[in-house]
Amino acid sequence: MAGNERKNSVQPKGRGLFAMVCHMVGQGAGRKPLHLFIFPLLSVCIGLSYTVYTFIKQAFFDSVEGLVVGRGEIGLVLVLGGITSLFPVFSLMLGQLSSIVLQIFFKAAEGQMGKKLNEKAARIDPLVYEDNRFLDHINKAYVGLRSVGEVVVSTLMIFLNQSVYFVSMGIYLFTVKPALLIMFVVSFIPNIIGTVVRKRLYANLEHKAAPYRRRYEYFEKCICSREYVKETRLWRSEGFFKKMYGKNLRKYAELDWQTSKKVRLVELGLRSLVLTGYVGTIIMLFYYLSRGQVGVGAFAAIFTSLDTMFSRMNELFDIQIGTVSRNYGKAQNFFGFLDLPERRGQYEGPVKRETIEMKGVSFTYPGSPNPALENIDLSVRKGETIAIVGVNGSGKSTLTRLLTGLYLPTSGKLLIDGRSVEEISPKALYRDASAVFQRYQSYKMTVEENVRISDMGKGAEDALPVKVEPAVRDALEKADFPADSEKLTEGLNTMLGKDFGGIDLSGGQWQRLAIARGLYRSHDMIVLDEPTAAIDPLEEAAIYRKFAEISRDKTAFIVTHRLGSAQIADRIIVMDGGRIVDTGTHEELMQREGKYREMYHAQAKWYV
Ligand code: ADP
Ligand code: MG
Repeated sequence: MAGNERKNSVQPKGRGLFAMVCHMVGQGAGRKPLHLFIFPLLSVCIGLSYTVYTFIKQAFFDSVEGLVVGRGEIGLVLVLGGITSLFPVFSLMLGQLSSIVLQIFFKAAEGQMGKKLNEKAARIDPLVYEDNRFLDHINKAYVGLRSVGEVVVSTLMIFLNQSVYFVSMGIYLFTVKPALLIMFVVSFIPNIIGTVVRKRLYANLEHKAAPYRRRYEYFEKCICSREYVKETRLWRSEGFFKKMYGKNLRKYAELDWQTSKKVRLVELGLRSLVLTGYVGTIIMLFYYLSRGQVGVGAFAAIFTSLDTMFSRMNELFDIQIGTVSRNYGKAQNFFGFLDLPERRGQYEGPVKRETIEMKGVSFTYPGSPNPALENIDLSVRKGETIAIVGVNGSGKSTLTRLLTGLYLPTSGKLLIDGRSVEEISPKALYRDASAVFQRYQSYKMTVEENVRISDMGKGAEDALPVKVEPAVRDALEKADFPADSEKLTEGLNTMLGKDFGGIDLSGGQWQRLAIARGLYRSHDMIVLDEPTAAIDPLEEAAIYRKFAEISRDKTAFIVTHRLGSAQIADRIIVMDGGRIVDTGTHEELMQREGKYREMYHAQAKWYV
């Protein structure tokens, strides 16, 4: 193969936790710079406040003790008592304030990232969408965006709040009695083990259970999704699908239960270890108190703070670290999406398409072992009408996707006006190109919007915006769409598609609407890729004839496997197995003993 071969598949690279945090915080900082300073400050303050609270309690209990033994002052006791009792309320308020600031900041960041995602989706090489694995990836990217938020917020909480709390509390315990710190640190160990084991068990479950989940989700779709429901009802296959659904769901639930059971048992064991640490600390406290090594104030302060200490430890492992590990993988999908290859190209136009030339072009779909196009040589001048014919799977649609520049050759050269297609920016490339695809879309919008969607900017750049309605009507008329039909109760504003309460059209009408859409777009090149599956050969031939007439001064590619529609072209290209096997006018091709004549005779009966 040639040296300019492109790699059509991509391997997104992951982001570390630190990079993830930086990315999101950076996004938020652009929109809310002030919040960027406030929320870390608040988080650190809250982390410290618990330790300060313990310290104040110690002072309070000491002052009470002083009063009891007749040394203290009532005034000090009252002040410290007041602070001690008000502290929880103060801490609660601080927490609320912090969560409001945090929410504002991260909503802004998420908004920015969502915008980035949408912009990226528009810039992505359309070829990526051909790769089944990546369709999945794209959906996951949107879910991943949420997960990035969860991961980043929890990570920041761990570092700005939890660790500040545990370190300051550790220092406090150490100053009271170093052994207490050791006991406290030891209590972390079962939690750490628990986190690791849980992660392992769930990863293992995901690995084993995912195929069953995918299957039961698929069978669920077979039973109730719109695309399957007609066949499912007609074949009366619900029973079968339900059985398959149930079988896979049960298998999934069983695996899930086995893992949950193990996780619960492990947790039960570890919790009892933590409890031992808790009880041990209390026993130590009493011991030191009885021997006079810890004062009454410190004893009471630590004793009343123990439950907070252990519940915060729980929170750290179960909630914060749990959230990070559960969402980390999903969050990667967001970044993986941002890494997908984009089409660039410096040349911004104009692209006149005086000539389109292919030299030794081959093309292979991502993940496919065989090339869909092989060694194509083709040269097209502006204004030509070219028919591309051949049996299903011969590569016609693929060829038009390359001719429009939608996909780039895997190897070989595609030159537009002598310039390599890679050098032209997609925007410039598509500016004056239009197409009606084989699998066109039926938009659930009004008739007018269904046409205008191909060129929403039309008229906008003119000093006096052109009124679009006449242009829409013109396109509909050219495509023989019955715009004045009584069925369209609100004319061009009639809503189409059942989903949002619109009316449905027949297959043939949707098709004409799709053709009108293609014609409406300003273009000097247009592709008509057999959007005609729903109609018979004679009708197709009529549509194609009219289309060729409308496109007389434009470059037009008409694709069909029905040769009767191809005769109106200036030149016919015959494709077979991804290669161009013959080319010429209808008369020339009929004179030769080849694929075209063979196909023509086989199809002759369609046209009588
Ligand atoms: P035609 O339009 O003549 O029916 P296509 O251009 O659609 O043919 O297909 C040419 C070949 O490429 C066929 O073998 C088809 O199976 C293969 N092909 C088409 N689309 C894809 C895709 N998205 N991924 C992998 N192979 C594809
Ligand atoms: Mg096709």
